[in-house]
Amino acid sequence: MTSPGFEKPTDPARSALMRRVRQTGTKAEDEVAAILRQSGLRFRRNVKSLPGSPDFANKTNQWAIFVHGCFWHRHEGCPRTTTPTRNRDFWLAKFAANVNRDTIKARLLRAMGFKVLTIWECETRNPSNVRRRLQRLR
Ligand SMILES: [Zn+2]
Repeated sequence: MTSPGFEKPTDPARSALMRRVRQTGTKAEDEVAAILRQSGLRFRRNVKSLPGSPDFANKTNQWAIFVHGCFWHRHEGCPRTTTPTRNRDFWLAKFAANVNRDTIKARLLRAMGFKVLTIWECETRNPSNVRRRLQRLR
């Protein structure tokens, strides 16, 4: 996933925040991996041979999944989608770049005929909902 390339932060509060958010992202991916396995969907992780290195993909069946941290990738209307007040311009530029990159990745994959699913970090707290959304990939 999900923590796109960042320059090394110098501000300790900022780097603590980045660390925290990054860890929840990884946990969300593990959650999705477990649900995919339970659903009997075969997949590879971090598929670098596809545009945007999807977190999960099956090239034969032409689907790709991105598991997005709500904070980094700006889950609309989600309480985790906060914006730090310090260095606000830095964050806004960072977020805009992330969202733009996400859009491009999905567009490239769709142009190749892939179904693309975005699963938000907060959704993984509700596995049955995720399982239902995965049905689209069959
Ligand atoms: Zn969310």
